[in-house]
Amino acid sequence: MQYKIVVHYAELALKGKNRNEFVKRLRKQMRKKLKSIGHDWQVRSIHDRIFVEIPSASKKEAEQAVSELARVPGIAWLSLVHWFPESECHFIRGEDVQPIHDLIAELANETHKEGHSFAVRVKRSDKNFPMSSQDFERALATTIFKNSAWDRVDLKHADQFFYVDVTSQGTSVHTNKVRGTGGLPVSSTGRVLTLLSGGFDSPVAAWLMANRGCSVDFIHFSASHHSLNDVEGYKIARIVKQLSEVTGRSRLFIVPYTHFDMALLEQDLDYDLILFRRFMARVSERIMDEINAGALVTGDNLGQVASQTLENINSMNRAIEAPILRPLLTYNKEDIINKSTELDLFEVCREPYKDCCALISKSPRTKSKHVVLEKMEAEHLSDYEDLIQDTLAETTTLVYNYGELVFKKEAGDEDSYV
Ligand code: ATP
Ligand code: MG
Repeated sequence: MQYKIVVHYAELALKGKNRNEFVKRLRKQMRKKLKSIGHDWQVRSIHDRIFVEIPSASKKEAEQAVSELARVPGIAWLSLVHWFPESECHFIRGEDVQPIHDLIAELANETHKEGHSFAVRVKRSDKNFPMSSQDFERALATTIFKNSAWDRVDLKHADQFFYVDVTSQGTSVHTNKVRGTGGLPVSSTGRVLTLLSGGFDSPVAAWLMANRGCSVDFIHFSASHHSLNDVEGYKIARIVKQLSEVTGRSRLFIVPYTHFDMALLEQDLDYDLILFRRFMARVSERIMDEINAGALVTGDNLGQVASQTLENINSMNRAIEAPILRPLLTYNKEDIINKSTELDLFEVCREPYKDCCALISKSPRTKSKHVVLEKMEAEHLSDYEDLIQDTLAETTTLVYNYGELVFKKEAGDEDSYV
């Protein structure tokens, strides 16, 4: 029996003229994902679906590929199907459909559960097929009744569906639809840089942007120094490693927060947290220029902590020209935690971590004004450009590709590692 993976994309179908470009990118992202798990399989479009050819893999390998592909942004749902090539079976030209009945009987026996109901769904994309969809559904349901223990049909809310799809290329049969995450394929809507901290919020924010088609890189301001030898074990690096299963290729820039901290220590300034936020934005903007990122992303959530006020958001926005996106602004914490569990990030994100924001301010200012902060910065942090340069000069860069570290570099290194 031949297998294939059939992929449906929902939203992409709405994209009008851009549609072909989006579908092309989705196929490319699917190919990359498959390659990352060792499969050089063909991925091609037929009408409004994408087919993955499975040359000679075991069913288990094929099922694993389905669950990996389900994480690729842009996919509405997908299925592992049994495939009857039209060139061999000629069902549309009126050849006997007994092989479909035989397979359905086999699948019925495999899937039967006491007390459950079933339904058969037939779709004919090629109307030359000699039977109407309804007649074929009835005929296949009769086969199921006769050859298995299934005894109850529920057309709308069946526990088990049997799907048959007749197209001019071939006929697919399957029993299981796996939901994808929807959205748009990575790299179709631009590049963003995400401010990544040690909590639950910013990794979920990054995932949301990737699922909206963005390529995502990361920047973290670290309170401690990590040598290149142990950096992979660092919580932040492990979060990026895990996220890169979805984002594909992602860079992580780790910069020290110490220079800014020292500068603040010398002053006795109120507003230290919001001043730091502005500093993070400015350092990030320099990196964004280098990597061609169109926006900065944070995990800010309105009112979640005392500092996350509209005033402070505004003060941070005014520090740089690039837009700052906050995809979690209106989320409830529970939804964020659920999403992080779904993304297999919950365990790593809940590990204790001393983020520098927590070190800075126990009772941060809830209100701030750009003009006041600007004056403060001019008066008390007059070597601002030096602060930015000193911080950037100590950047450690890691690059992950689908869960694998492919490059690491410390400030001053000529060579790349890995
Ligand atoms: P998170 O759950 O993402 O840690 P949080 O609820 O702890 O967020 P804050 O600590 O106030 O909130 O941080 C708000 C946002 O600022 C974070 O979501 C992140 O985008 C950014 N941020 C905070 N600390 C850092 C850091 N050390 N490096 C980079 N970005 C940071
Ligand atoms: Mg935090």
